[in-house]
Amino acid sequence: MALTLQERIAEVEERVARACAASGRDRNDVKVIAVTKYVSLEMVSSVLEAGLEHIAESRWQDAEHKWKVLGNQGTWHFIGHLQTNKVKDVIGKFQYIHSLDRISLAQELHKKAIAADQEVNVFLQVNISGEDTKFGLSPEAVPGFLREIASLDHVKVIGLMTMAPLEGDPELTRPVFRGLRELRDELNQLALTPEPITELSMGMSNDFEVAIQEGATWVRLGTVLVGH
Ligand SMILES: *Cc1c(COP(=O)(O)O)cnc(C)c1O
Repeated sequence: MALTLQERIAEVEERVARACAASGRDRNDVKVIAVTKYVSLEMVSSVLEAGLEHIAESRWQDAEHKWKVLGNQGTWHFIGHLQTNKVKDVIGKFQYIHSLDRISLAQELHKKAIAADQEVNVFLQVNISGEDTKFGLSPEAVPGFLREIASLDHVKVIGLMTMAPLEGDPELTRPVFRGLRELRDELNQLALTPEPITELSMGMSNDFEVAIQEGATWVRLGTVLVGH
């Protein structure tokens, strides 16, 4: 029999807690984002009622209706590839953008954030696995990228984001997640940002426990939490 939403949330919570315990981490250092791109407005509403605060969508076209109805009830994350001409739609609505991957996008985010009189929290998307099907900066490009956007003071880089290849055995994703953590630590040694970069957005339904063991601070969960 299919599990209810409440049961799925409880099961995910147990798995997150176990992964934290297994790696000596504090449960409060890992936040769960419900990825609702596959599901209906009604499901997003149920997720919020069930007490999950963080909602993620990957396309404005799919998110628009949900956000217009439920926007003020949660904290919204934009996790998909963001076209520059869509920045005007998401600024002021999505508190976190996980997919900053090019200078032109940083400039547009800065411009629209100034116009909206806010700061936007961003994660740099990094292609650790090197798959050419994935968006993201190469790890080697990140220091230069941070230097180039340093003057865009309305764009606040709080973390790094990556996606691992889909593997039959989640253990095989570990080097990707470890690579993102090591990159974060190296960047902080270079002190390229006004404040240290603390956040790691990594881990999806298939691999979130490995990501947590490697230091994820945000896991993005669709299928396992809200269904597909
Ligand atoms: C769809 C998506 C997710 C969630 O995927 P699941 O495997 O269903 O958990 C997480 N992150 C990004 C960037 C996505 O596009």
